[in-house]
Amino acid sequence: MIPLVDLNAQYLSIKSEIDEAINSVLAKSDFIRGEAVFRFENEFAKYIGTDYCIGCGNGTDALELILKALKIGPGDEVIVPALTWIATAEAVVNVGARPVFADINKYSYTLDTEDAEKRITPKTKAVIPVHLYGNSADMAAIADLAGRNNLFLVEDCAQAHGAEYLGKKIGSFGIASAFSFYPGKNLGAYGDAGAVVTNSEDLAQEMRMLSNHGQTDKKNLHFVSGRNSRLDTIQAAVLSVKLKYLDKWNLKRTEAARYYISKLGHTDYILPDCKPDTKHVYHLFTVRVKNREKLMERFSVSGIACAIHYPKPLDILDPFYDSSQKTCEVASLVTQEILSIPLFPEITAGQQDSVSDILFEHYKG
Ligand SMILES: *Cc1c(COP(=O)(O)O)cnc(C)c1O
Repeated sequence: MIPLVDLNAQYLSIKSEIDEAINSVLAKSDFIRGEAVFRFENEFAKYIGTDYCIGCGNGTDALELILKALKIGPGDEVIVPALTWIATAEAVVNVGARPVFADINKYSYTLDTEDAEKRITPKTKAVIPVHLYGNSADMAAIADLAGRNNLFLVEDCAQAHGAEYLGKKIGSFGIASAFSFYPGKNLGAYGDAGAVVTNSEDLAQEMRMLSNHGQTDKKNLHFVSGRNSRLDTIQAAVLSVKLKYLDKWNLKRTEAARYYISKLGHTDYILPDCKPDTKHVYHLFTVRVKNREKLMERFSVSGIACAIHYPKPLDILDPFYDSSQKTCEVASLVTQEILSIPLFPEITAGQQDSVSDILFEHYKG
């Protein structure tokens, strides 16, 4: 059996450090807003290259906190790419605003800025590019689009911890950026966790308050009606240990991706596109194939995991469908052909050979 991701193998490789970090939280029992939370927030802000990091409950909450702090709500529209995990659009709906879906680029699978521009109305307040599968969106074009149209640029970095655009870490381009530490992400906790990063002191303060019942550091002093979305101390302790390994693990992902690309170069699968100006961190390795069902069957028979990220573009998904909007054709085509194959830092060349063998077999027909 070859899994899509092997969380246990990763845990075993750093077991003593993780166990020690968790035990030290247990010894102090500072489970909420403990020392490890503030330590991790500082480390992560430094890693991304921003002034502030605010830990929170998960990546969806991170997006929501940003939108709320930017005062985006009822009557406002936010541009979201049609191909992403549902959370990007849910966060918009959860603050009372309307997600407007834009199409994606056929090869990078990230936001198509020309299509996004056509969907801007006087109600549009923000644009949320998603660095899908670990690949940076075209940040120059998106920053230009946001600047010319006076939109907030909010990055969804949930799949791209450590990815870069023109030598700069993604997450440092927008007014604020959301990260998820869901266990299977490139930097994953051992449960739900998330964070926002920003250079704005005002926004940082506002988001910290919103995420902690409207309080600042003083308990029982409530400035706004907020919510409860805090980063657990145990999760923060785990994340501090794992952050030290993130670059090494991303490099292993890149090496594994290159191995697939070198093996599959002569086939007609459409492989991930990585431009020289970006550093892809291969959260997922996707191939595009015409008769996908048959290929999935071959994988299944051979005990190899594969998955579709995602089966339907969000613009035609029931909760969001709006018949007045032009559908996103590229996203629709890509969702019919895309398939994620096993890739994780601990994958072996032997495992990759087995996966590639199935792909060859299928290619030859
Ligand atoms: C995982 C993910 C999220 C949400 O993160 P959670 O921590 O699961 O709430 C948001 N956007 C994208 C693109 C994601 O992949």
